Amino acid sequence: MSQPLADHLKYYAEMGVDGVSRDARWRERPAAAAAAEPASDAPFDSPDAAGGVRLAQGHADSLDLIRSEIGPDCRRCKLCTLGRSQIVFGVGHPKARLMFVGEAPGEEEDKRGEPFVGRAGQLLTKIIEAIGLTREQVYIANVIKCRPPGNRNPEPDEVAACEPYLFRQIDVIQPLVIVPLGKFAAQSLLRTADPITRLRGRQFDYRGAVLIPTFHPAYLLRNPSAKREVWDDMKKVRALLQAGS
Ligand code: URA
Repeated sequence: MSQPLADHLKYYAEMGVDGVSRDARWRERPAAAAAAEPASDAPFDSPDAAGGVRLAQGHADSLDLIRSEIGPDCRRCKLCTLGRSQIVFGVGHPKARLMFVGEAPGEEEDKRGEPFVGRAGQLLTKIIEAIGLTREQVYIANVIKCRPPGNRNPEPDEVAACEPYLFRQIDVIQPLVIVPLGKFAAQSLLRTADPITRLRGRQFDYRGAVLIPTFHPAYLLRNPSAKREVWDDMKKVRALLQAGS
């Protein structure tokens, strides 16, 4: 077992955690947390509450706790040795009703410590504003929190080390709608190899939210004609948010 993993397990053992799980029930939001209001006070007492990392009974999860557990110099995967300059945790409203999930931080995001602030991010901001919201009203995160070198796709071990924290963020925020941006995020969240062209245009139940995959804004920069489909998706998102209010 690698030292970072051993340290991680030791940390959880000290918190009273007695097991870890890679069970595919990742899609389910824990019943106790889903029922409780507000979510940030909910005890995580189901085996898969944190996407494979069980918190001890009575420990309320929160974005601050997740951020501090990751720490400023996370060494749980090899990306810490491959040139990332900081962890890009996620940004936005802690109780956002709409959450976007991208793939991984790019160069600009790595410099600034905030997701989607480069060219694709500016387009995402416009997409958010097109449905009458601001960046501050939604939550934006990525499947992984560190920049892969040369903007390559995240590798399976990197996703495995990082995504439990994304699942915990989702469970704390409890959004009504989650929009994975692009093929990588959609496939990763839905545990499927289906192409994005097959996933977009559909809705999925996901950890208590409705998940609506759409194209990545970087793809739209290269293929502006696909903006029409994204607009169709965003109209569905807006209708769901309106129906839920
Ligand atoms: N692309 C992503 O998937 N995420 C970011 O944060 C920026 C670009």
